[in-house]
Amino acid sequence: MARLVMKFGGTSVADLDRIRNVASRVKREVEAGHEVAVVVSAMAGVTNQLVAWCQALSPLHDAREYDAVVATGEEVTSGLTAIALQTLGVDARSWQGWQIPVMTDGAHGKARVERIEGAELIQRMQAGQVPVVCGFQGLGPDNRVTTLGRGGSDLSAVALAAALEADRCDIFTDVDGVYTTDPRIVPKARKLDRIAYEEMLEMASLGAKVLQTRSVELAMKERVRVQVLSSFEDKPGTLVVDEDEIVEKELVSGIAYSRDEAKVTLRHVPDRPGVAAAVFGSLAEAHVNVDMIVQNVSAEGTTDMTFTVGKADLARAMDTLGGKREAIGYAEVTADAGVAKISVVGIGMRSHAGVANTMFQALAGRGINIEVITTSEIKISVLIREDATELAVRALHAAYGLDAS
Ligand code: ADP
Ligand code: ASP
Ligand code: MG
Repeated sequence: MARLVMKFGGTSVADLDRIRNVASRVKREVEAGHEVAVVVSAMAGVTNQLVAWCQALSPLHDAREYDAVVATGEEVTSGLTAIALQTLGVDARSWQGWQIPVMTDGAHGKARVERIEGAELIQRMQAGQVPVVCGFQGLGPDNRVTTLGRGGSDLSAVALAAALEADRCDIFTDVDGVYTTDPRIVPKARKLDRIAYEEMLEMASLGAKVLQTRSVELAMKERVRVQVLSSFEDKPGTLVVDEDEIVEKELVSGIAYSRDEAKVTLRHVPDRPGVAAAVFGSLAEAHVNVDMIVQNVSAEGTTDMTFTVGKADLARAMDTLGGKREAIGYAEVTADAGVAKISVVGIGMRSHAGVANTMFQALAGRGINIEVITTSEIKISVLIREDATELAVRALHAAYGLDAS
């Protein structure tokens, strides 16, 4: 007998037939003798609609009310899933974040989970009841509903699995595992049986939407065993595991892409101590995350500085920099949203040379220009024109020998 958390994403609960399918999937595990807690997302498309309504009323809306609105999608699916389970004769009860409670910090719209009170749920699971928990939502210190950022139901599931000391956290989605790259843009992508936490973390943070980045961070910290698998097909998925559990360490295990970043360039910035601190300090104060950064060689006492920010933060970044023009002393600032970041990830990179060169050759071979490069121990990222995204991902997938035969 095991204790399982089963999380179902938006496409898996997109309509009543799919919710029935979820219920029978859960019933099977209950009948096999397992204790099961379920976490559900909103029906596919619902959260987008809710976000769009908030935006349409006011682009600078109150984050507390945004959370009050967008948290509702999961409330519908948790109740419906509980009904579907009851219809199949399974004892089930829905739970909203505040009822458990899932306590978070007060960062509305992207709250962090601080503590989950698991005792009551454990008791009910031991008595044979299935809790059906609303993903994505929690309760902030101001006693108001919070949400955990887009894709946050993954985080709800992992945090719940940690709190309930579950044996495994199964993330059911519309693909049957984690692939070498997004199978929707590279049909030759291969499913991985296992992926190391570190690799999954890089893949997620570099754009692979299959798991939310913070859910992987938490799984790694709390050593939660996560499996990504299909809710439509009955076969094993991909296990996210410790590096030691992977025998064959691939040089490159995956390619990720993100179209969510924009490039900002400051021209003729004075080349003296304190300037970078002034630029990035003011962006940090405005809660703008900066990713890739390059600074050119200086000429006649000034230099150009290029970096990337999330597209969603671009307006705020430009506004902040505009207000600091005198203080920083640059001549011009330009924004470019037509870029994409392509990354290759693999723990094998730690011990091998030449990985970057393969990347540059493959891109050059397709006539793709590289605008910015950054590297870390297990990844290399480049910034290119957005319209070359698919071409680049496919070229790299082939160049590193990842294509399925
Ligand atoms: P859910 O609604 O179940 O949370 P998501 O849309 O958030 O599902 O995540 C699943 C999607 O992630 C897949 O449909 C796939 O297009 C995308 N994806 C991106 N990169 C990868 C990858 N490397 N492996 C598998 N899926 C990926
Ligand atoms: N429904 C939320 C979203 O679409 C959370 C999730 O699905 O993980 O972002
Ligand atoms: Mg998701």
